[in-house]
Amino acid sequence: MSAYLGLARALETAASTRSKLAKIAALADALRPLPENDLPAAARLLSGSPFAEWEQSVTSVGWATVARAASAVTGWDLETIGASARAIGDLGEAIGLLLSRDSVPEPPLEILEVDGRLRALAGLRRAAEKQALIEDLLRRATPVEARYLVKTLSGGLRVGADLATVEEAIAAAFGAEREPVARAHRDSGDIGETAAAARDGRLEAIQFRLFHPIGFMLASPIEDPREIEAELSQDVIEDKFDGIRAHAHKSGSRVALFSRTLDDVTAQFPEIALALAVPPGEFLLDGEIVAWKDDRADSFFRLQRRLGRKAPPAELLAEIPVAFVAYDCLAVGNTPLFELPWRERRRELERLAGSGAFRLSTVHRAGNVASLEELFRAARERGNEGLMLKREDSPYLAGKRGRAWRKWKKALATLDVVVTAVEQGNGKRAGMLSDYTFAVRAGDSLVNIGKAYSGLTDEEIRRLGARFRKITVARYGPVRAVAPEVVLEVAFDTIQKSSRHKSGFALRFPRIVRIREDKRPEEADTVERVEEIWRSIQGA
Ligand code: AMP
Repeated sequence: MSAYLGLARALETAASTRSKLAKIAALADALRPLPENDLPAAARLLSGSPFAEWEQSVTSVGWATVARAASAVTGWDLETIGASARAIGDLGEAIGLLLSRDSVPEPPLEILEVDGRLRALAGLRRAAEKQALIEDLLRRATPVEARYLVKTLSGGLRVGADLATVEEAIAAAFGAEREPVARAHRDSGDIGETAAAARDGRLEAIQFRLFHPIGFMLASPIEDPREIEAELSQDVIEDKFDGIRAHAHKSGSRVALFSRTLDDVTAQFPEIALALAVPPGEFLLDGEIVAWKDDRADSFFRLQRRLGRKAPPAELLAEIPVAFVAYDCLAVGNTPLFELPWRERRRELERLAGSGAFRLSTVHRAGNVASLEELFRAARERGNEGLMLKREDSPYLAGKRGRAWRKWKKALATLDVVVTAVEQGNGKRAGMLSDYTFAVRAGDSLVNIGKAYSGLTDEEIRRLGARFRKITVARYGPVRAVAPEVVLEVAFDTIQKSSRHKSGFALRFPRIVRIREDKRPEEADTVERVEEIWRSIQGA
């Protein structure tokens, strides 16, 4: 039996350094000496959850329950706890600070005990029961343990060590290569089982398991197909569908759809689950959930109305039917196919022959850039975004963006628009006025048509920010309305009628191409121009 303190200290060390290697070393040092029984739970706890991904379970404790438990244990009132958490930006850090200890609590928390307690939380329904259990844990915790217990409960360790870092730590701890560790983790959906197998030198024996989220293979963009002309003969080409990416897991009548954010979205798309249940056996497919109309993919805007609706009502199902367009097959039966070339995976996919709300992508080839251009035009005419080019001999690299898959899309058009309101950005751009609402002209007035966040350099954003501060005419919470002076050129992928903005239109993927210092707001584009572009793509 080993103490949880070792894990908490390792996480603390990992959090205190920006060096990836130092993070890996800290986690590896914590894992290496652990006895067999503790290792799986320890590896999972280091990656932020007592549960393996395949278990699809969460401790599900609300912020308030944790805060109440902390209040009972530390003696501080809820308000102080809340204020400290807000000031520091992390409940775990705040509780760690408020928990003063004169002596180390006895007996120390054991890894398996923490694991068992956290798992038990998932089975408790009543908040009072959850609170009592968390209080028990916190009473026995040192400040550093409390910090990481609470972070685990709040769903994020925030030590800058993701699952890939833990995979590397496992490899480093037990002298394994990184690749087989990553593969075992991908196949088992269990970082704990992977750690145990790495230690015993039996990574190859790990069995493939369905029904856990797996990373998606991503594509690199190309701007001009001439860049890849030399490789074109080795590529297969598919339309780039504008929907949401999903992995479909199926066994018997059980189906699960995992989105790119690794969330289970099955309940939102019952007709897809039904259609995927039809072919016999077990499989794992990669593909796109799209709105479906007249035997082809419809626009993302229509799909959007289905997103987030957990149990879509019958009228919505009838109004906006959806389909899963499968373009890859990653496992059949118990056999993972990731390492096989695309060509062989496609053969397996075609054996499943989709119908109804389960379709297969159509594969094309292009001998030269001219025929690729032709395929691009045809894809756009079918209402799709552009093309995907995939190396025929490439394996499926889960969670990686490489050059084996390329995406090619072109902006539909650009518009010169006027900024009417600005807001501070998030993440790297917190504190900068980087989110712009923009408008086109309608007669003598301006009507908003969209919001853009990306495209400018930090320097440009700073320069514009200073100007926007000067020309702010009103403030509504975080939003500053600004005098309509700044003209931007924005590119976008498509245009749709929408009641979201006053103009009656919405742009898909608007991005700023440049600041039009040379244009005055009177020269910005008009809503008639927008209507014209919209008309040009109707019936396409
Ligand atoms: P992007 O979102 O522009 O970075 O483009 C990558 C996305 O294109 C993928 O994540 C998929 O959701 C989507 N996509 C659409 N059609 C395909 C296809 N035929 N093959 C692979 N990805 C596709």
